[in-house]
Amino acid sequence: MKEKILVENLVKKYGDNTVLNNVSTSIKEGDVVCIIGPSGSGKSTFLRCLNRLEEPTSGDIIIDGAHLMDKTTNINQVRQHIGMVFQHFNLFPHLSVLENIMLAPMDLKGSPKKEAEEQATKLLETVGLADKKNMYPDNLSGGQKQRVAIARALAMNPDIMLFDEPTSALDPEMVGDVLNVMKKLAKQGMTMVIVTHEMGFAKEVANRVMFIDGGNFLEDGTPEQVFNNPQHERTQDFLDKVL
Ligand code: ADP
Ligand code: MG
Repeated sequence: MKEKILVENLVKKYGDNTVLNNVSTSIKEGDVVCIIGPSGSGKSTFLRCLNRLEEPTSGDIIIDGAHLMDKTTNINQVRQHIGMVFQHFNLFPHLSVLENIMLAPMDLKGSPKKEAEEQATKLLETVGLADKKNMYPDNLSGGQKQRVAIARALAMNPDIMLFDEPTSALDPEMVGDVLNVMKKLAKQGMTMVIVTHEMGFAKEVANRVMFIDGGNFLEDGTPEQVFNNPQHERTQDFLDKVL
């Protein structure tokens, strides 16, 4: 499979705090990678470096052949191919569900309104919220908001989706619906990098699990390898706490 994301010698420091300590990895088309690790270990920082929401201190990130750190690279163009979903949904409160999803294709790609609306309607069906299209975010549950946020990210037809703890802010009964939407995406072959504490989801859906601690990926393998036969004591300690 084609390489989608290449990270080489990525270093990210905040002052004296080295959060990512010379990290390298390669992610292929269709990979579903779950990143696990303790709080403060750099999971969000790593994910945000992948679309340069965070500026790396040094190293290279290459997305579909585009060198993110090159001055000549149009980062906004690269970002259009990368959908991102955050823990807190960040929907626009003054726009309806449908309008939230239509906005980026119309503003950034110049999609005609009718086309954007048709696509948004389809995406709402995909995430199981066709009947909510005229509602406003404030009137939705957390799980519904997160599914709208996923539909909004998909509206740009990304070929990579990044998820930063998409279910961490949800009431337990909402988590399943969001994970099911993500599972559907994975089955369709979407390249996904997911920071999550949902170990059951990681086991079932991911083809790769990476454990980060102390600025490094200590584990990188199949769910079975990482969960059943971790190479580092620190991984086992972490798993003992969360499983
Ligand atoms: P995680 O997502 O794994 O919980 P983060 O990537 O958010 O961890 O943070 C990793 C480390 O980087 C933490 O020690 C955090 O305090 C620090 N950090 C994150 N963002 C900033 C920032 N904008 N300024 C300074 N330190 C930061
Ligand atoms: Mg985080």
